[in-house]
Amino acid sequence: MAYPLLLCGRKAGAALGGILASNVGAVCEASARLQQLRHASSHSENTNKFLREALDRLDYPEKLQNLLLTPRREMSVELVVQMDDGQIEVFNAYRVQHNNARGPYKGGLRYHPQVDLDDVRSLASLMTWKTAVMDIPYGGAKGGVTVDPRKLSERELEKMTRKLVVAIKEIIGTYEDIPAPDMNTDAKVMAWFFDEYSKYKGFSPGVVTGKPVYLHGSLGREAATGRGTTFAIRELLKALHMGKLAEQKYVIQGFGNVGAWAAQLLWEAGGKVVAVSDVAGAVQNENGLDIGELRRHVAGGRPLSEFPGGGAIRKEDILTHPCDVLIPAAIGGVIGAEQAAQLQCKVVVEAANGPTTPEGDAVLRERGITVLPDIYTNGGGVTVSFFEWVQNLQNFKWEEEDVNRKLDRKMTDAFAALWAVHREMAVPLRTAAFVVALQRVTRAEVHRGFD
Ligand code: NAD
Repeated sequence: MAYPLLLCGRKAGAALGGILASNVGAVCEASARLQQLRHASSHSENTNKFLREALDRLDYPEKLQNLLLTPRREMSVELVVQMDDGQIEVFNAYRVQHNNARGPYKGGLRYHPQVDLDDVRSLASLMTWKTAVMDIPYGGAKGGVTVDPRKLSERELEKMTRKLVVAIKEIIGTYEDIPAPDMNTDAKVMAWFFDEYSKYKGFSPGVVTGKPVYLHGSLGREAATGRGTTFAIRELLKALHMGKLAEQKYVIQGFGNVGAWAAQLLWEAGGKVVAVSDVAGAVQNENGLDIGELRRHVAGGRPLSEFPGGGAIRKEDILTHPCDVLIPAAIGGVIGAEQAAQLQCKVVVEAANGPTTPEGDAVLRERGITVLPDIYTNGGGVTVSFFEWVQNLQNFKWEEEDVNRKLDRKMTDAFAALWAVHREMAVPLRTAAFVVALQRVTRAEVHRGFD
């Protein structure tokens, strides 16, 4: 079956080059900048390396490549917060808006001590490609604050969040840029965000997604990324003739929103989750962990590794624990070349953003381990964020079954699109996903023009 959005090869490059030459010459003349982008080594460069593999297949002109690789806006601010003890702390915060050709900027907000501009830049770019792969009418953005939220009281966290809103309120908005939860930001943080923004701009529930259900949030949003991951695995298993969800053994790194929901849903589907980890420890049970019990255990404030229904293992060994499906669902960059050489799984399903480095990816390819890429796998989160936004615009709440059914449809359709390119172009699934995304974004860019 021919993939309808396919626009590739030298011909397409030349055609686009013609359109672009007259329109974006001035903006994109900086091919030195492209060279810079080509040679920097960083999180954003990792993302760009993957992107360039797809760009090489599409053979777009260099000017267009530069346009697609470069964020539209990067904002850095300092948040001055008076702490509970009267001390003044200053936190660095960022919002990067990567591309809005297909719709308003969209992307999460991360609170983490390792957040820096480069990190946020890379995550913003991933959002552009993710919203395109999922075919939802958004662009890509990301935000972050360099902070260890565990060291802040709830009151300090709220103050810091409200300061962030005041600092970036002129570049975000219901039709401009719509933040969402990411690592260490949850529905409560989103509610503060919505409230603070509404003080300045009037009632604006659609300015942020991932809000509590009782404060204009969507049913099904909390579980959406984990649920989407489960739908993604189901489609992959089908395509690879690996059988059903219930027939697999799973290992999951990360037991936060994404990891715990994925574990829960895979367990409910009859799968065996044989090991999970979090930042502090890991636990395993070869007969399958009782995820319901484990969630109750962790919710009670007890360490994951002390779960009585399993045995503790070193969290460093989680990725190499034998399984069929390995699901990194924590932080980026955890599967480098060294780890990739030691994995004992059939497929890697990237629920986290950027868990595999380009070097790790190359080793996995050599070893014949299939990787389902992040820009598709965890797209369920932003998809239900989109559903939440639509409900906010409609002032109407959908039923949870409706949300989950629509999510299933989106995940299934997106998989079919990337699988078709994977087969037609004989490229890895990651490259296929970027090809699908690049074609969609480029088509919008070119059609909208550059004046
Ligand atoms: P979270 O904060 O709810 O959970 C993160 C989990 O990772 C926790 O269990 C934490 O203990 C663990 N962790 C942190 N550092 C670790 C380390 N060094 N080693 C092992 N485990 C570690 O975050 P989340 O929302 O579940 O997000 C997880 C990943 O999924 C992130 O990469 C995020 O960008 C991505 N993601 C999240 C969503 C969403 O809707 N929440 C959507 C798309 C992508």
